[in-house]
Amino acid sequence: MGYAAKDTRYNDISYKRCGKSGVKLPPVSLGLWHNFGAADDIENCRRMLLSSFDMGITHFDLANNYGPPYGSAEETFGKIFESDLKPYRDELIISSKAGWDMWPGPYGDWGSRKYVTASLDQSLKRLGLEYVDIFYHHRPDPETPMEETMAALDQMVRSGKTLYVGISQYSAEQTKKASAILRELGTPCLIHQPNYNIFDRWIEDGLLEALDLEGIGCIVFSPLAQGLLTNKYIDSIPSNSRAGKTGTYLDAAKITEELRDQIKKLDTIAKERNQTLAQMAIAWVLRKKTVTSALIGASSINQIEDCLKSLNNLSFSDEELKKIDEISFK
Ligand code: NDP
Repeated sequence: MGYAAKDTRYNDISYKRCGKSGVKLPPVSLGLWHNFGAADDIENCRRMLLSSFDMGITHFDLANNYGPPYGSAEETFGKIFESDLKPYRDELIISSKAGWDMWPGPYGDWGSRKYVTASLDQSLKRLGLEYVDIFYHHRPDPETPMEETMAALDQMVRSGKTLYVGISQYSAEQTKKASAILRELGTPCLIHQPNYNIFDRWIEDGLLEALDLEGIGCIVFSPLAQGLLTNKYIDSIPSNSRAGKTGTYLDAAKITEELRDQIKKLDTIAKERNQTLAQMAIAWVLRKKTVTSALIGASSINQIEDCLKSLNNLSFSDEELKKIDEISFK
């Protein structure tokens, strides 16, 4: 029997407007950076994607280089889209990106029109899509004129290969400049994708204000600090976790006793709020009105279910916020 999405999928989630655009996003979105590569169990990938959609998660985030190997997360998504999600295309927001190293030579990295345009074409093939909903420039390029990269994004919209464009990891100043160029071209910047979590708050230093000013939405990645802001590393490093695996960006050596102590204290506050630490960490990023969506990763359905329950308690007392600050700024 083929997949049929649950009728109840829109019952429990309120969607939030992305900046000053017409698009609304779920408060929790799912990214395919890890656990959707060629070596990962495709049945588990399928279960995670379809259950997410059944729970109201309408937004899936990819990039050209997610895997490993590069491109394979898009291929995994493409297979599951073809077999199961295709009838629901108009209910999905699918994003991809280019900006990090993707193929060898001078045209497979950074922000030239040559690179980002070819990369989107490749992504569409792997995904089996005619268009993506959002295409991002993945990181600022200090050498390519920003006008060139933004003009390439504008052209992608005009050629129907993406509906909206976004930027990732641009500073407040770079964001204002990119936004002005895009506005002038007639393709407003929909969204910014920065990292943000209890341990990493750089966006509070000007970026959020810039996004408000420009009417740009904000989807924050790694709200769980890649899994650190959960209870999984409190006692040990499980071998099947991101820190326990090789070839990831979460270095087990960084999980020091001091960090564990901070995590334990945060876990205690979460318990007092009747939440798991993962749920509290997601609620914490969503407390900012500018944040449209928390972009999580997952290795199982249970984790996604757990994360979504964060929506049951999104408010914080001043005292709770102060305690979280004291622990995380230690
Ligand atoms: P998170 O901070 O949400 O970390 C996800 C990891 O946390 C999971 O893989 C899992 O670890 C663990 N986890 C998730 N939920 C739970 C839970 N309820 N209980 C216990 N552990 C849990 O986000 P990511 O770092 O994965 O990033 C999310 C997405 O953001 C990416 O997929 C990508 O789309 C995007 N991104 C964008 C970047 C950019 O430059 N624009 C850079 C990085 C990410 P485990 O696998 O160990 O089980």
